[in-house]
Amino acid sequence: MKPIVLVPEVIAESGMSLLRADCECIAPWLDGKKPGEAELRKMLGAADAVLIRLFPMRAADIASAPRLKVIARHGVGVDNVDVGAATARRIPVVFTPNANANAVAEQTITLMLAIARNIYPASAAVREGRFRERDKFIGSELTGKTLAVIGLGRIGSRVAEMARNGFAMDVRGYDPFVKKETYSGPATLEGSLESLLRAADFLTLHLPLSPETRHLMNAERLRLLRPTCRIVNTSRGGVIDEMALAQALNEGRIAGAALDVFEQEPLPADHPFLNTPNTLLTPHISASTRESMENMARDAAKGLLDVLNGRRPQFVVNPEVFR
Ligand code: NAD
Repeated sequence: MKPIVLVPEVIAESGMSLLRADCECIAPWLDGKKPGEAELRKMLGAADAVLIRLFPMRAADIASAPRLKVIARHGVGVDNVDVGAATARRIPVVFTPNANANAVAEQTITLMLAIARNIYPASAAVREGRFRERDKFIGSELTGKTLAVIGLGRIGSRVAEMARNGFAMDVRGYDPFVKKETYSGPATLEGSLESLLRAADFLTLHLPLSPETRHLMNAERLRLLRPTCRIVNTSRGGVIDEMALAQALNEGRIAGAALDVFEQEPLPADHPFLNTPNTLLTPHISASTRESMENMARDAAKGLLDVLNGRRPQFVVNPEVFR
């Protein structure tokens, strides 16, 4: 009997075709069905494997899947997976770290340019017959400005490279896990997060969400930014204290924010960001390019099949399960 794989969310055909060759796939969206989370959760009972995007795999979900042998995460962040609970059952959590770094980096640069040049309100003005208001939309250039990058991993390094090579920005970085002595990347390393924040014309965040990084950008650190600074966040909403950021925007203590990720997604209808000035919001689409969707689906399916077929997968969040 072929193993059963639950694929609760839409993924690209590059992944589905690999899975179909070896597995029986439960993917209700292929038949145009949209079961709710509770119904999908019931399907876990039969699954030998899951391939998920943002679908949560908390301890209770993992417990309700007695046959589960692998969790494949389509993407990088695994904050929707209880890795500890998976590890306790010796279930590998595979992920696709190389698949979307370029897409997210390009979106970060896109958002940075868009808020620097007021693209969204300027476009709205033309549509609303306010063409003559063009002087309201005088923007700032990136060239020569200081870009502060928090987190110099795959995406942060790619952003740093694009900003330095493409826009001649003065790129400075902060990452406590990167050693100054051995670093040869595109950013200049700052000694402390505080000195980095004080220097920033643009600030971009590229670190994982964890109990240590939750609200890293809190009210106190937001106060270190200059009033001309613009923030871009394509990492995870929880790394910023959203209420403190909304307050800083409302009080004009920073010049703008472009946010792709939020503590609660979808963004609640009464969220303050819907009314803060100079705020550009996108619905968690940084990795959503055709190229990266295909890469993620293919890489997640490969990792999942490696585990089911007894091979060691290339990218595992909890390699200790193989010891
Ligand atoms: P990565 O693991 O390659 O890099 C993360 C870096 O953050 C590492 O170098 C790590 O040392 C650093 N870091 C950890 N704690 C830190 C701290 N306290 N301060 C500063 N740096 C710290 O990850 P990545 O692939 O570059 O992904 C970065 C983020 O982007 C993750 O949060 C991921 O979830 C998110 N992401 C978002 C999307 C999207 O669609 N918006 C898509 C992919 C990834």
